[in-house]
Amino acid sequence: MKILSSPSETQAFLRNISRAGRTIGLVPTMGCLHNGHLSLVRRARAENDFVVASIFVNPTQFGPSEDLAAYPRNIGRDTALLEAEGADLLFCPQSSDMYLQGFSTSVAVSDVSERLCGEFRPGHFTGVATVVCKLFNIAGADKAYFGAKDYQQTVVIRRMARDLNIGTEIIICPTVREADGLAMSSRNSYLAPDERKAATVLYRALSAARNAAENGERNAGNLVLLMREIIGAEPLATIEYAEAADADTLGPIGSIGEIAGPVVLALAARIGKTRLIDNLVV
Ligand code: AMP
Repeated sequence: MKILSSPSETQAFLRNISRAGRTIGLVPTMGCLHNGHLSLVRRARAENDFVVASIFVNPTQFGPSEDLAAYPRNIGRDTALLEAEGADLLFCPQSSDMYLQGFSTSVAVSDVSERLCGEFRPGHFTGVATVVCKLFNIAGADKAYFGAKDYQQTVVIRRMARDLNIGTEIIICPTVREADGLAMSSRNSYLAPDERKAATVLYRALSAARNAAENGERNAGNLVLLMREIIGAEPLATIEYAEAADADTLGPIGSIGEIAGPVVLALAARIGKTRLIDNLVV
């Protein structure tokens, strides 16, 4: 596996891959890889001639009081894992090369960025959209792979790609979970053992709401109440938001709250100090 850190060198190298008629699959990550990330790499490996994974802990998507400095990093282990999955290139740029002195451009995807996590993490999705747009321009990939675990992120990126005529096809892959249902996340490494047990409450709440919907509950407000009740019963959990939203637009479910089409059940909660998110589409 080749490793490059210079954006311009990576762009030139990948342009030659494309010109040689080989398809490129891109998997953007912030590293500290787990099976969720690797599932994207496997899918990319199966569908493309050349697989690029990027590792970049993007400072512009972290708020001033968030965990940028503490975010887990393990480039040695990540390199070995990507190599084992058959990735062809690891792109791991420095922040100073991604954001040159005087950097002054950003990609703001209004509307879908403002709901759910957007209310609690102002500027987060502008940071995400900007860096993903840069990665798309650097990689010139045919396809790029994202996890449904970060549901709102997939909606923001698809909207950006559509609005800006980005030629890269966006592929969304299912959330990979631990045996007890907890969605895999680099941030799970922050959890103390009692918190790790408590963290299963997110998936329990989502599953209960999904079961209720599958058993005929059509009122979005009732699904939200059910999720809140379950999370409220876990002393180590503090809810940030629990919502049932239109799965395409992330907008609220009609004025009477009756579900008609696909709905995303979305949760954010703190377990101790660790903020976790999860979702299910019903
Ligand atoms: P991150 O390193 O957290 O920025 O994640 C990089 C990519 O991996 C994003 O597209 C995430 O949605 C995806 N991802 C993270 N966790 C999971 C998971 N448990 N299952 C599937 N994809 C995931």
